[in-house]
Amino acid sequence: MALPSTYADRNCSLARSLEVVGERWTLMIVRDAFFGVRRFGDFATQLGIPRAVLTTRLKSLVQEDVLVRDDDGGYRLTDKGVALWPIVRALMGWGDAYYSPAGEKRTTRHDEDGGRLDQDGRCEECGALVPVPEIRIEPGPGYEHRPGTPDPVSVAINTPRRLLEPVTRPV
Ligand SMILES: [Zn+2]
Repeated sequence: MALPSTYADRNCSLARSLEVVGERWTLMIVRDAFFGVRRFGDFATQLGIPRAVLTTRLKSLVQEDVLVRDDDGGYRLTDKGVALWPIVRALMGWGDAYYSPAGEKRTTRHDEDGGRLDQDGRCEECGALVPVPEIRIEPGPGYEHRPGTPDPVSVAINTPRRLLEPVTRPV
């Protein structure tokens, strides 16, 4: 791992966690997995990262049991991986608050009743703490559409959809 382990780190689980998810791109890969991206090529296109780096990161996430490979070779979050959602959500919220003057880039809702989720992930409509598979994500007021024709995976993940629902591509 890139971060050196020091004596002080032994008593800090933040340091230990960052050994798993603190490297550049890792949380972006995890975020895309929440958005339903599964294929190596799709991660590569979405993130625009060198394939060698993506290979290393995916391998490490599988080793750490954050991602698992399915029979068809696609990647999917394990329960341990899904448990990272509050962190991904909190960092997105922090970025929205301080770096997105036009408002949140993506809005999360309770798919069942359309209620917005507050910063703790609670539905403002029914008050439930919404489990990850029932969360709908959609472009928010701060979302900037890129010029040009987007690829099918971008279209899919920027259309209101439930988290973890696999992106399917036309064959
Ligand atoms: Zn609700």
